[in-house]
Amino acid sequence: MKVGKVGIVGAGTMGNGIAQVFASSGYDVIMRDVGQMQLERGMAGVQKSMSKFVEKGRLSEEQSQAALGRIATTTELRDLAGCDLVVEAIFENFQAKSAVFEELDGLLGPQAILASNTSSIDITRLAAVTRRPDRVIGMHFFNPVPLMSLVEIIRGFSTSNETYETVRDLAEKLGKTPVEVKDYPGFVSNRVLMPMINEAIFTLYEGVASKESIDTVMKLGMNHPMGPLTLADFIGLDVCLDILNVLYEGFRDPKYRPCPLLVKMVQAGKLGRKSGEGFYSY
Ligand code: NAD
Repeated sequence: MKVGKVGIVGAGTMGNGIAQVFASSGYDVIMRDVGQMQLERGMAGVQKSMSKFVEKGRLSEEQSQAALGRIATTTELRDLAGCDLVVEAIFENFQAKSAVFEELDGLLGPQAILASNTSSIDITRLAAVTRRPDRVIGMHFFNPVPLMSLVEIIRGFSTSNETYETVRDLAEKLGKTPVEVKDYPGFVSNRVLMPMINEAIFTLYEGVASKESIDTVMKLGMNHPMGPLTLADFIGLDVCLDILNVLYEGFRDPKYRPCPLLVKMVQAGKLGRKSGEGFYSY
C-alpha cells in the first residue's frame, strides 16, 4: 500500500521527533495536539533539532526549510481524515489511547493504517476498539527519534501481512532499521531493558554497591554508553515503574516485581532528570 500523507497524534517528545523524520523523508505530515501551546512547543522542538542537523552539515538549509514546510499542525482530530497512516504518540495511558483509536477509526478511510508508538500497551487491545484490527500495528520509535535508528514493529494478534509489510517498508524509507516483534508485554526492548534497570536498583537497595559503582561496572565492564541508574533517571522513574508493572501484571511472574526503592522514589516525586532529582541530582 502506498502511503502519502501521515498524521501524528501528540506533539510531545516522541510525536515531534516522528513528525520530523517523516517530513525529512518527503512525506506530508499533519500533527495534532490538544492545544496551540503544545503544538508550538512541538514545532520548536523540530526546528531546534533540524538546525543541529544543518550545523553539522547533515542537511542543507533548503532541505530543512522544505521539511518544516511539510509539517502542518492542528488541534482538530478530524483534520487527519485524509491520512493513509496515523501514528499515535500521546500519553502512555490505555483509556486515552483507545479513545483516540476509536475516534480515528470513524474518521479515516477504510484502507488507512493506525499505528501506536506505545512502549508497553498491548497493540491487540488497542486494535480491538476499532473495526480494522488488521490495520492496527505498533511502530515503536526510540528517543531521540531523529538520531535513533531502531523501530520495533509490533504485530498485534490480527495485524495483516500487508499492514506489516507497508509499515516495515516505510520505516526503511525513513532510514530506520525495523525489527519485527510479537505483541507480548514489554515487546523486546523493555522486556530486556527494564529487568536490568530493576536489578540495578535492587543492587543499590540491598547495599551491594554505591550508585556510582553500579553505573561504572555496567559502563566499563559491559561497554554500555551509560549506567542503568543514569539511564533510569533519563527515562523517568515513573515510566520505568509503569513498564515494570505492565511486565509484572502481564506475565504474573514475580521476577518482574518492581524494587520497593523504585516505588518509594516515585511516591516521593523523585522522577529523575525531569523532576531535577532521581538517583542523581540535576
Ligand atoms: P509527552 O508527554 O512528551 O507527549 C505527549 C503529548 O501528547 C503531549 O503534548 C500531550 O498534550 C499530547 N496529548 C495527550 N492527549 C492527546 C490527544 N488526545 N490528542 C493529541 N495529543 C494528545 O510523551 P512522549 O514521551 O512523547 O511519549 C508519547 C508516547 O511515546 C507514549 O506512549 C510513550 O510510552 C511512548 N514512548 C516514549 C519514549 C520516550 O523516551 N519518551 C520512547 C518510546 C516510546
